[in-house]
Amino acid sequence: MSSTFAAIPFNKPYLAGPETKYIEEAVRSGKISGDGLFTKRCHQFFEQQLGFTKVLLTTSCTDALEMAALLLDLQPGDEVIVPSYTFVSTPNAFVLRGAKIVFADSTAENPNLDPATLESLITPRTRAVVPVHYAGIACDMDAIGAVATKHGLAVVEDAAQAIDSFYKGQALGTIGELAAFSFHETKNIIAGEGGMLAINDPRYAQRAEIIREKGTNRSSFFRGEVDKYGWVDVGSSFLPSDIVAAFLYAQLEHMGDIQARRKAIWQRYYDAFVPLAAQGVSLPHLPEYATNNGHMFYLVCRSLDERTALINALKQRQILPVFHYLSLHTSPFYTDKHDGRALPWADHYTDCLVRLPLYYELYPELQQRVVDGVLEFYASL
Ligand SMILES: *Cc1c(COP(=O)(O)O)cnc(C)c1O
Repeated sequence: MSSTFAAIPFNKPYLAGPETKYIEEAVRSGKISGDGLFTKRCHQFFEQQLGFTKVLLTTSCTDALEMAALLLDLQPGDEVIVPSYTFVSTPNAFVLRGAKIVFADSTAENPNLDPATLESLITPRTRAVVPVHYAGIACDMDAIGAVATKHGLAVVEDAAQAIDSFYKGQALGTIGELAAFSFHETKNIIAGEGGMLAINDPRYAQRAEIIREKGTNRSSFFRGEVDKYGWVDVGSSFLPSDIVAAFLYAQLEHMGDIQARRKAIWQRYYDAFVPLAAQGVSLPHLPEYATNNGHMFYLVCRSLDERTALINALKQRQILPVFHYLSLHTSPFYTDKHDGRALPWADHYTDCLVRLPLYYELYPELQQRVVDGVLEFYASL
């Protein structure tokens, strides 16, 4: 059916305009390794325009999470609480340090970590909790923060999807001691592969620079604070080439436009699908403390069968929706390490959540094809 239409992909990376010009500038500047001119511009953008205390670009969000795990000085056997419904990098960063992952369930309202169950997961070995702001929608940070403070846990935000989103007016990624962002091509603001660590607790600032620079104090050296640099700690190479930063800076300059477009597309979906709630389909739930950053539009179907049928019906129309995470507590790597607790909401989203195409160039006539496809599927049930 409708094979004369071009396919509507799930995602299409958007070029804001000056990306290649800035890359050329970076190359011509003669310094294309890390922490060049464009990296500094990106850092300034977050620190001066968005109010972050300190940020460091990394080669991915995965790397930023691995830096966070190093900064927390986790020891083998330490425990870290992570939602089961998330990307593998969220727990994997801590597993690399020998930590034990204790998986938390999602809430009934949305896939975010359920703070009501948090306290029951804490043991004397618990060191950190990692809320993931799913779809860029804030977790309940006051509730999570209260438990973390009471038990002396660090809060590391997985803010991979959460750029330009807020919790009670506070930017996501500025709330926990540390936060990790992604600029992977599937996110709102992209650099191909790229990420950033936000350091909100100044105690971690100096060591973060050292860990990112192979365990050396090279950053202090470049600022003229020491007269030679050397090996002072553990570390790795977490900083991106300035070519990546040049691409990213072009995107950051156009963030307002990109965000306005994405939020408009999100709202059009939302308004069109409100009537489906009567058929038991759930729309994204935005708690009153959270904003929407237009990262993702999803529906939660009533069953796995219904979701499979919806995806197939849309594929027949050359539209490519996708499901999302598979509960990590039942993953091949973790199932025999998990403590056996059932996590029914994580499993529910694993089976029933479907993401619809959402990208800058999803123009209204294209989006209408998606809307019609979904509405006609539900009308046919
Ligand atoms: C995309 C994503 C990551 C990984 O980001 P990379 O930059 O690809 O390493 C981690 N966590 C979540 C929740 C994500 O959505």
